[in-house]
Amino acid sequence: MSSKSFKDLKREVHDKGICQECGGCVSFCSSAEFNVIGFEKSYSPPVYINEENCLECGICYYLCPQTHILDEDLNKIYNCVESDTQHIGHYKDIYSCQTNDIEFLDCGTDGGIVNTLLSHLIEIKFIDGAIVSQTDAPFSREAKFIEKKEELIESSGLQLDVSSQLEEIQKFSTYTHSIQQLNHYKFKKLGIVGTPCQIYTIRCMQNLGVTPSENIGICLGLFCYENFLFDKSEASKFQKDFNVRLENVEKVNIKQDLVLACHNEDFGKKRLHIPFNHLDKYMRKACKACSDFSNIYADISFGGLGSLDKFTTIITRTELGDRVFKDFLNSQKINCRHLEKSEKNRIRDLITQYSQKKIKRKNQFMKKVN
Ligand SMILES: Cc1cc2nc3c(=O)[nH]c(=O)nc-3n(C[C@H](O)[C@H](O)[C@H](O)COP(=O)(O)OP(=O)(O)OC[C@H]3O[C@@H](n4cnc5c(N)ncnc54)[C@H](O)[C@@H]3O)c2cc1C
Ligand code: SF4
Ligand code: SF4
Ligand code: SF4
Repeated sequence: MSSKSFKDLKREVHDKGICQECGGCVSFCSSAEFNVIGFEKSYSPPVYINEENCLECGICYYLCPQTHILDEDLNKIYNCVESDTQHIGHYKDIYSCQTNDIEFLDCGTDGGIVNTLLSHLIEIKFIDGAIVSQTDAPFSREAKFIEKKEELIESSGLQLDVSSQLEEIQKFSTYTHSIQQLNHYKFKKLGIVGTPCQIYTIRCMQNLGVTPSENIGICLGLFCYENFLFDKSEASKFQKDFNVRLENVEKVNIKQDLVLACHNEDFGKKRLHIPFNHLDKYMRKACKACSDFSNIYADISFGGLGSLDKFTTIITRTELGDRVFKDFLNSQKINCRHLEKSEKNRIRDLITQYSQKKIKRKNQFMKKVN
């Protein structure tokens, strides 16, 4: 395929400090059975372990979300012209919806639409299951395969008693390592939920024909402005900086700022909004090198931005995404607000604004690292 190899990945991504540690290169290395590359330390980039078995095939380089080598191919496939990639990508329509299912609404981040859609797709046997994110504590998430509604609710972590888990956590993070999980479900038709960097890796895998990407039935993309990573010592600082106790945080939502839904017996329930520009030191460094906010290569994108509280903003993008979502609307499982054209334009403009902010942030950051 190319003369690229893991050495190039190391030079262009790891040495610049922009590896997301997503594990895509390790999990889908063409010579994975020889343990060519792997993580020697957690929270640091992968390294060569048995370099002599490297085929220099370049697969790791091509599917890495930080090399952007396949952008041109993907833009053609997903109909993104230059101005789309600068803004919100190609799309069919914009919606603002809320689930009719009380349980999904209760455990949902916004309108509970993603979980309701996954449950619907499992019910109609469009997919066998999905890889989602299990919340063990507010800043601790693990990728998990689910195939039932109850598992979706369980994995949301709603009403967890987190005080015991907090002691165990060494790194606090809002990022989920979903890509590596793909390898475990080779024979199932999967729904995938992911941030733009994760959906990008999956689209690269599909473009390159890397197994098991052919089993992915649908890509549900989340908006993402940034993710957070900090260790135990920084957690104390975080609590002091924002006058919050992590054991009181019930839910974390990332919208136009970081929203912490807190609860304790003294003050009852309250919501704390922390602006992104106060969170710079808690942000994952790799996120500074990322420009996609609204998940332009997903079949359908979802976010809170632009919608009322407890509603989800939805952008249908591909033919598949459009068809699936229209069928879902007909199922009467969700309540869809009627949006006038001007309202859709307002949402589009708001998403564009965040997309442009992200592009600007990346350009400034890359000037420093290059
Ligand atoms: C890290 C992160 C950053 C975000 N940033 C923004 C932002 O800046 N602005 C904005 O408007 N919206 C952002 N969102 C999206 C928003 O928080 C909601 O996820 C979205 O609106 C869908 O809400 P919902 O209630 O319909 O989804 P729900 O019904 O609550 O379902 C969400 C589903 O997604 C799964 N999930 C979440 N993250 C992952 C993951 N990484 N991998 C696999 N599965 C996952 C959950 O397990 C759950 O099953 C972000 C989401 C995440 C996870
Ligand atoms: S064998 Fe291919 S995918 Fe694996 S490390 Fe070498 S170049 Fe990368
Ligand atoms: S594929 Fe993921 S883990 Fe590998 S170099 Fe790229 S960002 Fe890092
Ligand atoms: S900001 Fe970009 S790199 Fe960071 S988690 Fe979101 S999509 Fe991935």
